Formats: sequence, C-alpha cells, structure tokens
Amino acid sequence: MSTDVSADPAVLNLQTYLRIRSVHPNVNYDECLAYLRGQAQQLGLSVQEYTIVPKKPILVMTWTGSDPALPSILLNSHMDVVPVFEKSWKHPPFAAEIEDGVVYGRGAQDMKSVAVQYIEAVRRLKQTGFKPKRTIHLSFVPDEEVGGRQGMGEFVKSEHFRALNVGFSLDEGLASASSEYLVYNAERSIWHISITCPGKSGHGSLLLPDNCGEKVRYIIDKFMDLRQESKKKMEDNPELTAGDVTSVNLTILSGGIQNNVVPEKFVASFDLRLALSVNHQEFENMIKKWCSEAGPGVTYDFDQKDAFVAATPLDNGNPYWLAFKATTDELKLPVKICTFPGGTDSRYIRELNIPALGFTPIINTEPGLHQHNESLKLDVFMRGIQIYEKIIPALANV
Ligand code: ZN
Repeated sequence: MSTDVSADPAVLNLQTYLRIRSVHPNVNYDECLAYLRGQAQQLGLSVQEYTIVPKKPILVMTWTGSDPALPSILLNSHMDVVPVFEKSWKHPPFAAEIEDGVVYGRGAQDMKSVAVQYIEAVRRLKQTGFKPKRTIHLSFVPDEEVGGRQGMGEFVKSEHFRALNVGFSLDEGLASASSEYLVYNAERSIWHISITCPGKSGHGSLLLPDNCGEKVRYIIDKFMDLRQESKKKMEDNPELTAGDVTSVNLTILSGGIQNNVVPEKFVASFDLRLALSVNHQEFENMIKKWCSEAGPGVTYDFDQKDAFVAATPLDNGNPYWLAFKATTDELKLPVKICTFPGGTDSRYIRELNIPALGFTPIINTEPGLHQHNESLKLDVFMRGIQIYEKIIPALANV
C-alpha cells in the first residue's frame, strides 16, 4: 500500500455497512434500511420503500435527471449476505476489521462493497456539480442469496418497477483473479430436477425384476456422461469459462430403509445450469427419453426450471454498452465479457428485455464470495469508486 486509506470516509462507510448482520436465514432488513435512509439523506436523494412481499423490503434512492422522461439507469445491489462458519474466520465476519490494507467481512465482495461504491461515486459526482441527463435509481433489494424470487423477482412484476422506467441496469459480477475486469452480459438457466425411479420392493437376497437400483444407475450414467462432455469442452478450449458450458451435478440421492430390503424407489436430484446454446425443449425431450429408456414408471419433476433468457446484446445497437465500453477504454481497463456461472438478479431485468450488465470492479483478487475470510483490498475498493465516477455519468448521459 502506497497510502493508508483505512481512515477514508468511504472505507468507514463500507465498514458500517459490513457490520450490519443482514445474514441468512431469516434476514431482518431493518438495520440496512436505516443505514440506507441515512445515506440517501446525506446525498440529498429521495427515497421510496416498497414491501411487495412481507419482510422483504426494497429501497430505491433516486437522483432525478434533467430529462426525466428518458429511460433511467438502475444501479442495483442486494442487501443480504450468505451465512458464515464463524469459527473458520481469522477476523470476525461482521466486525469489518482491517489488516494490512485489507478489510475482512461477509459481503466485502458480494456485494456490499459495490453498493457503497455506487453511493460514494454519487457523493463525489454531486460534489463536483454533475447533473445527470437521465434519472439514476439506486435499488437495494432483499433475498438475492436465496434466489431473489421474493426480492427482485417480484419487484420487476410491480407497478413500482414499471414507474422507474428503467432503460439499463448495472448489478454485481464477480471478482477477477487477474488484471482483467469481468463483465457479464448473460446467465445460464437454472434447472433443478428430481428423477423418481420406482421398482419392485423385496428381499435383499433376491434378483427381483423391475429394480429401482438398475433404473437409477441408468439415469445417473446419462447425466454423468453429459457432465464429462462439458468437462471435456472446457479442457479442450482454455478460452471457455464456467458460464459457457452446461454444468451437471448430482446433488441428492434418496431412498432405502434397511440394508436387506430392496426399496420401492430411489430419487436422484440434479443441479443443471443450461448454457445459452442449449435448446430447452430438446434438452427436456432428451431427459424424457432417458426416463423411458431407464425402465417402467420412471418420472421427472422440476423444483426449479428457469426459462431461457437472452443475453444482453453488446453491439452498436446498445448505446448503453457503447457508453460503458468507451469509458473502460478511456480508463484503459482491460475487460473480458463472460456468461455468469451462477444466478443474479440481472436475469429478472433481462427477462423484461431491459439490457443489464453484471460488473464488480474487483481485480487481482481471488474470488472469495461465500467463502471463509471474504475480504477486499482497500486500494481495489477505492479504485472501484473512481471507475463508477466515470461510468455512471457516461450511462446517465447516453
Ligand atoms: Zn451477490
């Protein structure tokens, strides 16, 4: 560290937010709301709060543009964080302690840092007298870490969201281990599927027909073959990242009561993330075929089945992208475009055909989200504020 930034007001502000325990399960968002109301007041921004689902509040700060009829810019972040295994942390996860220029805390990368970067960039822009052409909304949503269906998922269906007239959205990406900034313009579709393999129950000493073990073996083989194909694609092409291929994981196997009794069924559950190139109908037909090949009575059902959501186009027809790219070029930031490997709230925005990018301005940092000792270098954090100080006006003046 060349200079000590640990006493910078932006860092103190980040620490304050990291100390709020908005952690799953059963998050109480009251403290977040109080903190954010205070921030909005300091910034001189108006605040709206919406409770579409009880106990799942959404707070929106608004900086009205000089041409408020134009579609607005949304800067979204989620308030919640994932649980911790407190004993495995070298610093308490909700103390925001700083050691050697690094702040430790749950949410340091995912994504309270980004929320505070938005806030600090707006603070600096206001101080310089900047006036946006388009209205800028900062939204703070609940429950992203449990899928977002009761947070952004419900919000986008509401009158309140329509009234924001969003033309473009920025949300979280991932920290980059290299010096390249990662920009996400798409997400895979999540399918959680359970396959039920029934069969004839009976004594464990007999080779009875219609066996549930044989059926579940067939199903697991098929899915694991598909898994191999995806692994091979990634090995064969080092350019590919996790979001570019379909991922397949066997996550739950259930059935059976006693070791000398053949059970009446096994159920195998798989977590699938469908690459953008996958035709959903063909993929489901393939699973249907496997079930009929596996034997009589084998059925499947979905715990989650995301629809196909098209990528945000990054071409000359997307003026927001051109503004974003012109800014990163001007700042000489190397950028790599990727498909997000997991799920974020951006998918709900893209489903409405609103362009959305995932961007977390963290480089040269091992991604530590959801891990023990989640942390962020303060100089990287401060640099991120400068980046938003350029990107936000560029987007607002499209
Ligand atoms: Zn996140």
